[in-house]
Amino acid sequence: MSENSLQVETGLSQGTTKTLEDLLNKIRAYFPQADLKIIEKAYLFSERAHEGQIRRSGEPYISHPLSVAGILADLHLDLDSIATGLLHDTVEDTHATLEDVRREFGEPIAQLVDGVTKISQMKFKNSNEKQGENVRKMIVAMGRDVRVLLVKLCDRLHNMRTMNFMPFEKQERIALETLEIYCPLAGRMGISSLKIELEDLCFRYFRPDMYYQLVQKVRKTEGERSRYIDDVKLQISHELQKANFKFDVFGRSKHLWSIYKKMQSRSIDYEQLYDVLAFRVIVDSVAECYGVLGLVHSLWKPIPGRFKDFIAMPKANNYQSLHTTVIGPGGERIEIQIRTREMHLVAERGIAAHWKYKERGKVDDDSEFQQANWLRDLVSSHQQVKSADEFLDSVKTDLFESEIYVFTPKGDVREFPEGASPLDFAYAVHTQLGNQCVGARVNGKMVPLRYQLQNGDSIEIVTSKTQVPTKDWLKLVVTNKAKQKIRQYVKEEQRRRSLTLGKDLVEKEFRKFGMAAAKQLKGPEFELFLKENGLRDIDELYVKVGYGRLEPRHLVNKVSPRSAEKEAAKTEEATFMEKVVKAAAQKTRKSNSLISVDGMDDVLVHFAKCCNPIPGDSISGFISRGRGITVHRADCPKAFEMDQLRKVDVAWTGAQAKEGQERMVRVRVVSHDVPGLLKSMSEVFSVQGINIESAQIRTTKDKKAICNFEVSVKDTTQLNNAIYELQKIKGILGVTRVLH
Ligand code: MN
Repeated sequence: MSENSLQVETGLSQGTTKTLEDLLNKIRAYFPQADLKIIEKAYLFSERAHEGQIRRSGEPYISHPLSVAGILADLHLDLDSIATGLLHDTVEDTHATLEDVRREFGEPIAQLVDGVTKISQMKFKNSNEKQGENVRKMIVAMGRDVRVLLVKLCDRLHNMRTMNFMPFEKQERIALETLEIYCPLAGRMGISSLKIELEDLCFRYFRPDMYYQLVQKVRKTEGERSRYIDDVKLQISHELQKANFKFDVFGRSKHLWSIYKKMQSRSIDYEQLYDVLAFRVIVDSVAECYGVLGLVHSLWKPIPGRFKDFIAMPKANNYQSLHTTVIGPGGERIEIQIRTREMHLVAERGIAAHWKYKERGKVDDDSEFQQANWLRDLVSSHQQVKSADEFLDSVKTDLFESEIYVFTPKGDVREFPEGASPLDFAYAVHTQLGNQCVGARVNGKMVPLRYQLQNGDSIEIVTSKTQVPTKDWLKLVVTNKAKQKIRQYVKEEQRRRSLTLGKDLVEKEFRKFGMAAAKQLKGPEFELFLKENGLRDIDELYVKVGYGRLEPRHLVNKVSPRSAEKEAAKTEEATFMEKVVKAAAQKTRKSNSLISVDGMDDVLVHFAKCCNPIPGDSISGFISRGRGITVHRADCPKAFEMDQLRKVDVAWTGAQAKEGQERMVRVRVVSHDVPGLLKSMSEVFSVQGINIESAQIRTTKDKKAICNFEVSVKDTTQLNNAIYELQKIKGILGVTRVLH
């Protein structure tokens, strides 16, 4: 028995750290072989940087980083973490820069200091339970190295310990933030000593009235409780000694915040609360734990349903222990925890590496391995210098590397996958916000749509009423929601456009025969036509016509036989003409196989004369009235003049151009006016399998020749090869494809 029974549990109160020597002694106590030069150096650097700064308490500022380093030493952390504790406020609050820290202390410490600084600079406007979880994740993501979080937690603990010097309003705000963000973090990391002390401090500043009331009540019954605790301990010890156990037994009152929460959740007063006392028996082995449990249950009657075996089934943060509640002396309910020394250490100091396991919600071998390392190292590493490196490796884990946390203008935190853009953000908020997004202000600065969100960014979406989503946006987004909404918009928009066009074409066709489409397109015959062609309704018919997948003439012939009769009555000459037209149409259809429109490749398309696109060119398609879809080069000036509402997505199908499907392009070659060049040039074309359709040559006063070729090519690759070969010919000054 080695602990005063009445102390409220504060595992970290291992003496204050007033001087550098105090700190060094703390480290030497668990790490005797440590070379403490880096700590001394960090202390001097920090002291110099903070020189002249005074805390609200009136103490020199260095007292704060020194205390933070002291708490880190209480947790038996490594030297880099403790040095970071000393340096953690230098970059944010003094003239010292991150560069200075890097130069003096090296990259690893600089990174830790940078991480702590970044977290300190974040402003959490909102805090509520839902946001709390995201904020915690954000802090973890920004921390990366778990030691950053440990330093930040210790920083917060010391600030809370000295909070009585803060103005009242600040006390409440900081206490609430700590309660909602940092206490759960400490819990998640399994550092119960830190969590418990933080919680009671928060309680004191967040609900001072309740806190002091409870303190008084607890104090009033102190003597009685103390005697009771001693009595229980004595009885347990007696039993265990009889059975030859080696053990320690502790008794304590549960910490104030947990008592308060119990009172709240059960709506009862302190006096009515029974299980405020907790006992802990610590032994050497797991087998002994169950042995002790048996003895305790034979001593006092256990309460059914209150036994928990966290040894066989550890908690997510790797906490292990046996818990049982029994009816103790005087009918009082008491909780007894039984665990090994190793489990006790883990419970008090935590296993931060395990966090990765929990947050990802799945077990990965690597993480479990690291966990095991961490456990082992926590218990034994400081007994041997050699394992200090292993210890570090087990602590340095990339947590949440693939997630980004950003702020909304209201200060809420949202989670995104890495690579997310302002569009992902906008669509996450609202579809309309996404559809009209033209850019964003990130931390007050305008950024383009392709910007990649960074951890801690504050995002404000900029919209325009005239903005519309395009298919290109799909390249800018990573979230499924954004992709889905963009696709949906583009699809609906194209459907709407082809519907308008299709309706137009159909009406025109009927007018040619002196009929009104509205009159013809109804009745059983029309219904039958729809059915036969697998069309749901008239709109779908229009869309099909608009896309060029259904000839309006065919429709007219089918639904108004009268016009078909007229057709049949035409002269033989006309029939001949029709054959020619049909053949031409078939030829067109063949060339269409080069192009797909919005994923369909049986659409009526033709190529714009102005820019003559060839396979491989980047292209745009436009719905043209009566002629299906016209394909321009994407950079053709004509394409920009077109009504952008008529734009459709077109792509080369990748099909090889067949004989007769070559496309005509113009190539201009500027050369010195020397004989024989034309022959060399035509040889190049012929070697590349390119036909020259025409050639014009003129010479200039300064003895240069300009040749304009019209050649038929299969695709850009073939053309570019030819241009490349032409440029190699001696005497040729430049070769360009003429676009307009
Ligand atoms: Mn600080």
